Amino acid sequence: MIDCNIIRDLLPMYSDDALSIESKCVVDSHLRDCPECRNYYSSIRRIAYTFENQEGHGSYRYSEIHRLIRRRKIIEYSAGALISAASIAGIIKLISDAGKKSKD
Ligand SMILES: [Zn+2]
Repeated sequence: MIDCNIIRDLLPMYSDDALSIESKCVVDSHLRDCPECRNYYSSIRRIAYTFENQEGHGSYRYSEIHRLIRRRKIIEYSAGALISAASIAGIIKLISDAGKKSKD
């Protein structure tokens, strides 16, 4: 089976009907067999539908929604990495301070 990340990269073009017939068949087949990608596709369609129905918004392309979701994930991963780094630095400082106290 094709990697889910590749399929998810293709979904915006799939939604915009911009894929070749061969690529569309690959995505169709993957969506039939992969519940995670099917759920992901449903969620970006739902978000696009919500945006399209808000006042003041024109039609949203799925590629824009996909880009927004990916940007949010990058921010979440970066925040997670920063928190992890800060936690590790705090633990190292605690261990270092405990070592100094035990020497005194
Ligand atoms: Zn998948």
